[in-house]
Amino acid sequence: MERTVYLDGQFIKESEAKVSIFDRGFLFGDAVYEVTAVLNGLLVENEGHMLRLQRSCDELQIALPVTIEQIIAIQRELIKVNQLDEGGIYLQVSRGNAGDRDFAYPSADVKPTLVLFTQARSLLNTPKATKGMKVITTEDIRWKRRDIKTVGLLAPCMAKQGALDKQVDDAWLIEDGYITEGSSNNAYIVTQEGVLITRALSNDILHGITRKALLELAEKENMKIEERSFTVEEAYQASEAFVSSATTFVWPVIEIDGKTIADGKPGSVATKLRNIYIELALQTAE
Ligand code: PMP
Repeated sequence: MERTVYLDGQFIKESEAKVSIFDRGFLFGDAVYEVTAVLNGLLVENEGHMLRLQRSCDELQIALPVTIEQIIAIQRELIKVNQLDEGGIYLQVSRGNAGDRDFAYPSADVKPTLVLFTQARSLLNTPKATKGMKVITTEDIRWKRRDIKTVGLLAPCMAKQGALDKQVDDAWLIEDGYITEGSSNNAYIVTQEGVLITRALSNDILHGITRKALLELAEKENMKIEERSFTVEEAYQASEAFVSSATTFVWPVIEIDGKTIADGKPGSVATKLRNIYIELALQTAE
């Protein structure tokens, strides 16, 4: 069934939604995006996603063409017309169509292009959540402003495909011997002493909305947390490893570079954090 999508003020059939070849999102990857999870037809942690969207736009001097309140109304309308129960809403705003190709930002009268569409998928009952996932490590070849959520995602696409080509699920990215994050998620380990470790916030990683919530939950559970860089070797030796994102919530990692993590089964910390995160998400979705 064709989805109804949103493009620049209009709700239209996906086959009718067309963007110019001069759109800067297409020519330069000059665009930012957000993905908000949907559970029971409600938006999960959307406030955090909207704040990060605003920040990404501010960093790139892209003026949102509508208010955040209007975006939320569009998200709700898309959920309704597409009868989306579980999945996500993708939002992208590009610097727009400047009528030609030129590196310089166009004048302010060029209106940014705003696109939103729904994606139906299972978030709660996914095999990876119960069985865990396998990852390989690969060099992090991305740019230096990974805190801005841009659509310039070719390096993560290459990392992900490289992992799939090796019959594993995903890639963890390495810079100077330390894990930065997953191809599209934040990365965590739990040490043999039970300390939860994830890289500290900086321009080296995306500031995950799920990461923030998970760390708050872990603190409430009195877990020991260290926000610091960790090496691949530490990850091999960990008692647990896992990832987080808006569309995975928490997925355990049971193998890294062919080395089994602990007993090769999803760990108790990852499982507990996933469960309490989902509980919170269901309670607070709106
Ligand atoms: N890091 C990267 C590189 C990502 O692409 C994502 C998901 N978009 C995340 C982390 C997780 O962020 P969030 O929890 O906000 O989905």
